[in-house]
Amino acid sequence: MREHHDAVIVGAGFGGMGAAIELKRLGFNDIRILEREDDLGGTWHVNRYPGLAVDIASVTYSYSFEPNPYWSRLFAPGAELKRYADHVADKYDLRRHMRFGAVVEGARWDEAEQCWVVSVAGQESITARYLLTATGFLSQPRMPDIEGIDTFAGTVIHTTAWDDTHDLTGARVAVIGTGATAVQLIPEVACKAADLTVYQRTPIWVLPKVDTPIPGVVQRLFARLPASQRVARWVSSGILEAVMVSAVLHYRQTKVLSKGAAALSRAFLRAQVGDAGLRRKLTPDYDFGCKRPTFSNSYYRTFTRDDVHLETASIERIEADGIVTADGRKTTIDTLILATGFNLWDVNFPAIEVIGREERNLGKWWRDNRFQAYEGVAVPYFPNFLTLASSYSYSGLSYFTTIESQMAHMQRLFGEMRRRGTDVFEVTEGANAAFLDRMTAKLDDSVFYGGSCQSARSYYFNQHGEAAILRPTSTVNTFREARSFPLDDYTMRASAALG
Ligand code: NAP
Repeated sequence: MREHHDAVIVGAGFGGMGAAIELKRLGFNDIRILEREDDLGGTWHVNRYPGLAVDIASVTYSYSFEPNPYWSRLFAPGAELKRYADHVADKYDLRRHMRFGAVVEGARWDEAEQCWVVSVAGQESITARYLLTATGFLSQPRMPDIEGIDTFAGTVIHTTAWDDTHDLTGARVAVIGTGATAVQLIPEVACKAADLTVYQRTPIWVLPKVDTPIPGVVQRLFARLPASQRVARWVSSGILEAVMVSAVLHYRQTKVLSKGAAALSRAFLRAQVGDAGLRRKLTPDYDFGCKRPTFSNSYYRTFTRDDVHLETASIERIEADGIVTADGRKTTIDTLILATGFNLWDVNFPAIEVIGREERNLGKWWRDNRFQAYEGVAVPYFPNFLTLASSYSYSGLSYFTTIESQMAHMQRLFGEMRRRGTDVFEVTEGANAAFLDRMTAKLDDSVFYGGSCQSARSYYFNQHGEAAILRPTSTVNTFREARSFPLDDYTMRASAALG
């Protein structure tokens, strides 16, 4: 007998845990959560680099139904997020559903049995009525394809595989990359290394981070009067909605917000860096919002240190003891840190091979056609499948907005299936096409198409040149649609198993 469950969820990060909590609320208790890592928490388990913290205020970057009154700071450090994930797993009794070290290789819809067959490396395959992939957006590290990188004789560390045992004290270090991760990491590395060279290909907009410890008295207030923390969440979410959603996704209507944020970043840079040449190198030439905005009070200032060098010449090759730039200069190093981010569009969408009805291969279909998923969760020809990390599912506000709107979608979908006495769903091609058309049209208002993003090299853009990751609607709209999408957008039927 094969192992069988009502539902298999791939991924034990916040997305997978949210899906599991919703399924349990809906009465499904036979759930298996498969996780390739050795513990839960997703990003917050994997990433441990120095300086790791949230850059969305913690009152917003958490489940609204599970507020944590005890965040130590406005922007909690990474380790606190991992503890929060552990707490949620315990409180909602999720651990018993989880299997770690389970690398899912693929899943195939079995039309005869009306179930998913999930292949796990080195194990018997598992069958499930429902398949939910919560594999995250930033899960597949990008290793730069630079000549000679394999010949480097020192230590190479990607930020997703931080080596706690490697002491940077007194080391000659290079960091490649200046994205959101590097912005957090570089000031920390600079404090330890004897010498740090940062290789920047594309500069990034950085805003001041209004961060502060949350005093005990406020934590106690949040604990005793949860409404006070809800108010704090609304305020923080409102500010983020303006900066991360309106300024970026409704750029044509709110250009002033994007321009204002860029002006603030420029003023901040002027205040921190006196050298005009250095400022020029650190100033992006694309619009604010083309790349994910970052927040730091120490990033710009770090480049004014005598032992920190900003290198903007392109990297020609890496040798055993250093990096050679296109102009022939060589910097000798002993540690190479790759803050080179993630590969989303080649290997992450989808993160596993998914084969639906009539042998449709999800990854191939997305690449041959366009990346698309109805309401960011469902795809025609893929019955009983919810793809929780896909195009147009990512809310600009916070990953938790994404997760909770998807939970609301699940509630409506599975609730209706139960009312109709059915157990197999599939989104219609018409509903999916209409959703894609609507998102495509709305994206016209975004900074991605309305602004100047040509030089940003943003991972928001895919191989088709489409910025098909963020849902180009307000957070209010996202939730409204999750709770009110037309039920006829899905076909629903009863399988033989349901009788
Ligand atoms: P990223 O934004 O993709 O940045 C990668 C950096 O590496 C870029 O500067 C890129 O340059 C550079 N790079 C990549 N390959 C290179 C090559 N071959 N040669 C030279 N440079 C190369 O990745 P990330 O910084 O890890 O951030 C990814 C996302 O993680 C963020 O946008 C954010 O959503 C999330 N994040 C969140 C937090 C948080 O606190 N919540 C913290 C960190 C990260 P180009 O720009 O020129 O390609």
